[in-house]
Amino acid sequence: MALGEALPLSVAAGAPWLAEARDRVLRMVAADRLSHALLLQGPPGIGKQALAEWIARLALCDSPQEGPCGQCPSCVQHSAGSHPDLQRVVIPEDKKQIPVEAIREMIAALQMKSYRGRRKVAIIDPAEAMNTNGFNALLKTLEEPPGDAVLVLTVSRPERLPATIGSRCQRIKLVSPSRAAALAWLQGVEPGVEWAAALALTAGAPFAALALYAAPALDKEMTEVPRLLDRPDADIVGLAERCQQRLPAERLRWIENWVTERIRKGLLGPAPDHSPGSPGLPQGLRTRHIQGLFRVLDETRAAQNALKGNANVVMLFERLFVILARELAVLRTARQGH
Ligand SMILES: [Zn+2]
Repeated sequence: MALGEALPLSVAAGAPWLAEARDRVLRMVAADRLSHALLLQGPPGIGKQALAEWIARLALCDSPQEGPCGQCPSCVQHSAGSHPDLQRVVIPEDKKQIPVEAIREMIAALQMKSYRGRRKVAIIDPAEAMNTNGFNALLKTLEEPPGDAVLVLTVSRPERLPATIGSRCQRIKLVSPSRAAALAWLQGVEPGVEWAAALALTAGAPFAALALYAAPALDKEMTEVPRLLDRPDADIVGLAERCQQRLPAERLRWIENWVTERIRKGLLGPAPDHSPGSPGLPQGLRTRHIQGLFRVLDETRAAQNALKGNANVVMLFERLFVILARELAVLRTARQGH
């Protein structure tokens, strides 16, 4: 499987060293005794986020069996990144902590009725990034959780979590895989990569090794995007779907950097185009093109903000790509007439 494709949740959360934790949660679901608060504890890069997403999908699934079914409307919504009954609380890009407001919003959302008439799930990742106010706000919810709420917390540094929080959660301890097990799994995900080197660089953490490898692969893939969009028959929906499936935030950041660089080059003088060696644009058109790029930049930033909420990620990318494609088409037509 190429990493350019999505890494399916079943593969990510299916790592063998997470099997015991998965089984434990499956038994709770089967007995209809899923805890209101789970604390996934383990070293960084071991797959806590993937497991948290898997648990969320399982808890929301209409017909869970050996795992989330992957077929029901709930599972489909989760795959699209737009499940109305799932909240994710993470550190905002411009902050170092999880703001207390984010915790309060999450609690308010948990107290509302479930959209799909089943559970409501919130993931807090990582829990130790909350501040004291956040801990206090969360504590009240942990003491009296709303009936159908499930909280999934991840923690790498449990000593930073107040004992009052930890003691009110069901703790699931995750242990690092052996080097051999990590290597075997990584080879299965993407054969032919020097995984031993990547694993050595990430202190044996397989998901961190995967991320390390994925970054340059993503760059290579994203470099193709403007070229793909600069065609009258561009498959915008297909491209948006592929972007949604894996690392959407990283892709938006890539587009932001790409557009910013084009604007910078445009302001400096040479041809503001992605194709090297293209003829320079007349002044009027260049100004018009820079304005267009600013619109793309605004849209990219709006998409980045929307992504932190519960947006439909495919639609975010579609909207952005339509605007970017339109801008590239204007440029193409102008150049042909020039
Ligand atoms: Zn399902």
